[in-house]
Amino acid sequence: MNAGERREGSGPVDMHIHTNASDGQPTADEVLKQAKAKGLSMVAITDHYDPFAAKYGAQSGNVFDDKSLAEQLKWRDGLAGEDDIEVFIGIERGPIPVGTASLPMQPDFVIGSVHYVTSKIPVERGRLYDERYWRAYMDEVLRVASDPEVDVIGHMAGYLPMGQMLLPGSTFEERRQMEREIDARFFSREWYEDVFRAALANKTAIELHCATCTPRIDMVELGLKMGIKFSVGSDAHNVERVGEVAWAYDTLQSVGGGRHNLWCPLPQTRVGARPVR
Ligand SMILES: [Zn+2]
Ligand SMILES: [Zn+2]
Repeated sequence: MNAGERREGSGPVDMHIHTNASDGQPTADEVLKQAKAKGLSMVAITDHYDPFAAKYGAQSGNVFDDKSLAEQLKWRDGLAGEDDIEVFIGIERGPIPVGTASLPMQPDFVIGSVHYVTSKIPVERGRLYDERYWRAYMDEVLRVASDPEVDVIGHMAGYLPMGQMLLPGSTFEERRQMEREIDARFFSREWYEDVFRAALANKTAIELHCATCTPRIDMVELGLKMGIKFSVGSDAHNVERVGEVAWAYDTLQSVGGGRHNLWCPLPQTRVGARPVR
């Protein structure tokens, strides 16, 4: 199959979902069932695969390993061929390469997300707007954008690594508000341009991250003008959130984009891919 044979006008896609193989709740079967119920044309399970996360104090990402990945790929390859949905098995890694090329089985694609900053910058609780720290974060995203192992940059302006600076007791929405403030203060248009340029050179997609509604709309518009391909992801950790991707489609449409601006995994990178009628 080549990209031109993909069915036009088919349902939405969700290319970022976690299962109980890492820190999500649903099983792969439950994800697939919900994806079909929501009429998705493509769905991707992308569990955390990051052997370095614990060292940097990042909580998630430690439980998924080569064996779980092999099991997921086997599960996918065993699915009945008549389903009107394409199923991909990706991984979500952190800022450090995990050496996917040397794994016994290859994931269909790799999301690279900066869940932590690798340069040692002292942080303090309650001191969130630290320019040095956020500069280091921005450099980290730039490195991920140029990393040949990475296919998609995950939540470049959302789910920011601020856990060590947070005071206890913040709500989900308060944390999103803090992210918008960090974005406004530090994430300049020039930085977005640099990331997009690196992504274009490396054929890396930028994620439209529906859990945090990021990147902000003017930067989606900038990326679109520069020729960026976008990947749509709910980042669902429970079954109800699977396919909650309306924000990405609405945002893309409102800046003049459409399905042709969306990234999808190359067929030749897929292991045991089923032919699509
Ligand atoms: Zn993530
Ligand atoms: Zn995720």
